[in-house]
Amino acid sequence: MDEPKPESVQKMWKYAEAFANKSGTNLHPQREITEAVVLGLASNIDRYGRPLCPCNFYPVKDAEGNWPENLYLPREEEVKRRTWICACDEMQVFKYCHCLLFVNEDGLPITEYLPEDHEGREIYGLIMDPTPEKGRALGRVQEKHRAQLAAAEQPAE
Ligand code: SF4
Repeated sequence: MDEPKPESVQKMWKYAEAFANKSGTNLHPQREITEAVVLGLASNIDRYGRPLCPCNFYPVKDAEGNWPENLYLPREEEVKRRTWICACDEMQVFKYCHCLLFVNEDGLPITEYLPEDHEGREIYGLIMDPTPEKGRALGRVQEKHRAQLAAAEQPAE
């Protein structure tokens, strides 16, 4: 695979540092782990135009343009769907980064907000969020929406 363009790599480093700060997470203490993810994101910018998560197993289309049933779509389709554009939905809702780009000070992903049957909980156990006041923008919107719905369903006195 071609090396990503230096400007894409620089853009992704800048993004990773800024998003870690905004979300109250840290970049992984082992720089080579962060670097591998940043390079993967930069490659996807060059190839697909967006920073698609580099840590998933995306299927490829066959000659007829079909692909196997899978949790993930082929990369070209995932770019349109947006679920796995960094910062992905899992990060925006649960503050969980399975690539280990955005982690706590010990290099572990935050799993506190994940559903209990999520594989992140199975792999890492319960990792509490050290900065609960930051991040989870989409998760907060969903919680607010759920609270409004619950309030609307309360019988009038
Ligand atoms: Fe991948 Fe999501 Fe982590 Fe970005 S935030 S590196 S898309 S798991």
